Amino acid sequence: MSAYADRLQALATAAADRCTGCGKCFEVCPTAREVGLEASEAKQRVAELSALTCGDAATADLETWLTACDGSARCSAACPEGINVRQWVTIAKLRATEAARPAEQNAINAAKRFRHMAQAVRLLASMQLPSETLRRILAPAEKRAADVLFYTGCNVLRTPHIVLNVMDILDALELDFDVVGGTAHCCGVYQFLEADLPTYERIGHRTFQRFGQSGASRVLTWCPTCTKNFGELEEDVEAPSFDLGHVSEFLAANLEALRSHFTPNQPKRRVVIHEHLGIGATVESIAALLRAVPNLELLDLPQDSGFSYACGGVAAKYKEREAAIHRGLAEAAVAAGADTIVTMYHSCHRAFAGAEAVYPIKVVNFTDVIAEALGRGGHPDYYSLYKKGGAMDEAVAAARRFLQSNGVEIDEASVRSLTAEIFNETGLAGRREAFAQAFADLARQG
Ligand code: SF4
Ligand code: SF4
Repeated sequence: MSAYADRLQALATAAADRCTGCGKCFEVCPTAREVGLEASEAKQRVAELSALTCGDAATADLETWLTACDGSARCSAACPEGINVRQWVTIAKLRATEAARPAEQNAINAAKRFRHMAQAVRLLASMQLPSETLRRILAPAEKRAADVLFYTGCNVLRTPHIVLNVMDILDALELDFDVVGGTAHCCGVYQFLEADLPTYERIGHRTFQRFGQSGASRVLTWCPTCTKNFGELEEDVEAPSFDLGHVSEFLAANLEALRSHFTPNQPKRRVVIHEHLGIGATVESIAALLRAVPNLELLDLPQDSGFSYACGGVAAKYKEREAAIHRGLAEAAVAAGADTIVTMYHSCHRAFAGAEAVYPIKVVNFTDVIAEALGRGGHPDYYSLYKKGGAMDEAVAAARRFLQSNGVEIDEASVRSLTAEIFNETGLAGRREAFAQAFADLARQG
């Protein structure tokens, strides 16, 4: 085992040592119930988890639990001993997968998932961002000199207006910051999930080290998965030289400074947040930011916010449950007289981006609202135009311009693959044919 693998194992062993076996973590686990594991067997499952941590093989039911986990963190919230059970389960799952499959197969699976993601992100970012912005984001982290790094991760570049909004907001705070992200700075999630630990160390672990090499005193994360993974698989393993936290928490901590820049003539809005628990204080932070926006009324609706820490990702395997959550929230919001659903993260934004085609409600990210309140923002949300399935002229004209600026060409095969990528995700959408047709024409015409 590498030194890093040893330290991970030490975290799991410490959890097993502290665990009293009460079973409360398993009792509240939403995905264990989703796959039919009985809450009454909680003590047995946790005993199996401890045994696996001490070197025993995983039982079939334990493997089912570990595989079902989508990282909701309800277990950690329920543990009377304060154990980070999500972290323990994540490490146990890595061990179980390492034991179940040859290392070569794990590396092949991880590389395939990474390549698939990287190709989609590269195309979507190249269709929506000018080359100078993309180059700024992709430049090596260790060469930056700013005191604060705004770390985007990879997948938010599918909806890059969010990145531009955050940059506008940080500019308004007159912060010495730089933006860093893209697949060259991946958090290594696919390698960790597929138990390819040697490659994870060369990707995710290395990205984290590069932040430290830049000399930044603070790294602001955007992606909930990066936030979770870097917090639990890096920061807890070895304390870094910088503070790490989600950008929404940083903005909420600087709310008074932001408020002083808000312009009073904001549109009258009744909004609902599409909530996900499980990543620090992001729900409370985003709610506090929105409440400070003039003329904005925040409605508090009961919702299934504890099922997953974000839409898609590891929760994507629960398509029906996710679809029910999306429909349920949109219908409840309309019934409550809300005019806007506010998304927290990029994957949730993609899931709701086409909602306007189905329900009489607008969908924006919280960064759209805050940037607009500061008199900034207003960056076009081209992804939402794709997803709504209406007129594509504006999105196609922008894509033609940006693809040319980035020196990237799309062909009809890549449009087919992007169409599947955008419209096969769980979420609300309009006509996929509108995107497929308009972008196939763009690919043919160049
Ligand atoms: S993180 Fe959520 S899904 Fe995973 S074991 Fe804990 S409660 Fe279950
Ligand atoms: S809730 Fe905490 S103490 Fe109880 S079984 Fe789970 S990890 Fe152990």
